[in-house]
Amino acid sequence: MDNYQRLPEYLKTSIATVDNENYKHVRQILIKNNLNTVCDGARCPNKCECYSSKTATFLILGNTCTRNCAFCNISQKTPLGIDLEEPYNVALAVKELGLEYCVITSVTRDDLKENDDFGSIHYRNTIEEIRKLNKGIKIEILTPDFKGSKKALDRIIESKPDVFNHNIETIKRLYPIARQMANYDCTLDVLNYMKTNGLITKSGFMLGLGETFDEIKDLIKDLDNVNLDIVTIGQYIRPSKKHLEVKKYYTLDEYREIEECIKKETNIYPVVAPLARSSYKAKEAYEFIANL
Ligand code: SF4
Repeated sequence: MDNYQRLPEYLKTSIATVDNENYKHVRQILIKNNLNTVCDGARCPNKCECYSSKTATFLILGNTCTRNCAFCNISQKTPLGIDLEEPYNVALAVKELGLEYCVITSVTRDDLKENDDFGSIHYRNTIEEIRKLNKGIKIEILTPDFKGSKKALDRIIESKPDVFNHNIETIKRLYPIARQMANYDCTLDVLNYMKTNGLITKSGFMLGLGETFDEIKDLIKDLDNVNLDIVTIGQYIRPSKKHLEVKKYYTLDEYREIEECIKKETNIYPVVAPLARSSYKAKEAYEFIANL
């Protein structure tokens, strides 16, 4: 099925609600500080809504990725060197935007092999700079798997992000076509390790790549078995004809059914909606878990 042209009505985002002044303000701050956002890089459907409410998800470590996930719109070429000014510039942008809660994500940097870095040092530096400039800030990081390196994960644990997020993206059966360079069990191990070391953990996956309802349930069970705190689930939207096809658009009733199933059968806080993405309602989900 090629649904590239046939998006259901409820998935079409309205531009009527865009606050142009805020949108321009966010764009100016990002350009001035030489920053990337995943909102731009991944063509997020919530970009207008987020920018007009003066928020953004910062994309660090460059805007080209060393992996080749078949659903992802981030450019996949040889990555450039690290911008050492970036941690401070992100901290400054967070301050200028007046954020109380920020989300930092990155491309995957399998090329940064020395000392099991994989980008973890840059994450740690970014968290430290944000905290120096922004008193009381809450920080969520959405990271790659760091190839499962305990050394890299320990750096992240020491820098104490308020939420550690790492996306599982899809069911195990679809990894060979959707996430060829990643490993389902490694993702679960990473989430388990971070939870065992005291962090609030979060993950997310897409619907519409060809999974069955039973496979969705198995995935949720796997996430519950590693004591995950928060899950985000949204509809996969094909970024271009070069990307994986959409196999199914779920109905709003099906979204409600999945949410109810999570509430009934697990201890995970669900953020389930067609346009839910990793940072969608992030502050609200964090506050719910932190206040338990
Ligand atoms: S690792 Fe992340 S950024 Fe890289 S291609 Fe996959 S989904 Fe996109």
